[in-house]
Amino acid sequence: MSHEGIRIVSAEQARREAVHEEKLSADAITPAKVKVHKTEGTGVEILWKDGHRSVWTFPWLRDACPCATCHEERERNDRLPGEPKPKPQSLLPMYEAPARPVEVTPVGKYAIKFKWSDGHEAGIYSWEFLRRVCSCEPCQAKLRAGR
Ligand SMILES: [Zn+2]
Ligand SMILES: [Zn+2]
Repeated sequence: MSHEGIRIVSAEQARREAVHEEKLSADAITPAKVKVHKTEGTGVEILWKDGHRSVWTFPWLRDACPCATCHEERERNDRLPGEPKPKPQSLLPMYEAPARPVEVTPVGKYAIKFKWSDGHEAGIYSWEFLRRVCSCEPCQAKLRAGR
């Protein structure tokens, strides 16, 4: 039994609870405008009703996939949503094309779903999830502080 593992999980737990404690207003989690730059391959831009603006690159969103499998994998490795996986130690580094969506589908009025170039499509990105992982500097600083 590894004590290291226990410590990491509880740190993650504490951080997640801290992040989730913060109440977000309805305007904060309702997009006024959503732009998915699928053809350009750049990423997603959301202007929220409260005036906040979030921008994510596609590889960032792929690394933030909220599905249970990806979430648990991040939890085990103490990575924040969007944090890339460390490169595997290998003598022959493999080129990995940056993730991009091959399909983007709205899910009801509350979320968006991507089918990624690597075939993964289990994640449902709710507006609330996206707002909570806003990649702007002040929001990311808050997430890191909770870690
Ligand atoms: Zn996933
Ligand atoms: Zn932000």
